Amino acid sequence: MEPGKRFGYYARLSAKDKRIYRKSDAITAVPLPDVEALFPLVQALAAALAAGKRPTVAKAANALGEAVFAQLAVTPVRVRVREVRPNSEHGQLYGLYTFAHEGKPPEIEVWMRTAAHKRTVKFPTFLRTLAHEMAHYLDLTLFELENSFHTVGFFRRESSLTRTLLAAIPRPARPPREPRPPRPVKPPKPVQLSLFGDL
Ligand SMILES: [Zn+2]
Repeated sequence: MEPGKRFGYYARLSAKDKRIYRKSDAITAVPLPDVEALFPLVQALAAALAAGKRPTVAKAANALGEAVFAQLAVTPVRVRVREVRPNSEHGQLYGLYTFAHEGKPPEIEVWMRTAAHKRTVKFPTFLRTLAHEMAHYLDLTLFELENSFHTVGFFRRESSLTRTLLAAIPRPARPPREPRPPRPVKPPKPVQLSLFGDL
């Protein structure tokens, strides 16, 4: 989708959410001050995923997340790595962001195996999913938005973060294609934002 375009659900948002949406849309990158310092952590995560052991992947994903959040001076959020992607009517679930609620901290979940063959997800896809969920968290912390919407700006931040981190991996690994148009997200009441693969 071109910059400046708005997703259809914008029309149904409250005036307050429309303001948040427009602010979100105007931010196009994640300002990491020292990208190269993150490269060994990205490489460790790629190696962990290739080895296919969930606890090692979780450790590496949290190490990368902590380093990203430390560079941006925000409190780290826990990353939970799950095994096989759940299927639902919306397709495979790639990742999930759960807002802080009832005194519980926010949480990121990412799945490391495909639903169909239980194969390990390709690293660029896995990294993009992680970047997507981290971008939700950054909306509410670094960018001080009161909600996190899927806007064109949001997807540009997700892509910028993914590309920046993927530079740690020698080719032929390339960024996956842009995700398909998202489902509208609801305000924090339902407390979870999902990233599905097949929309
Ligand atoms: Zn999302």
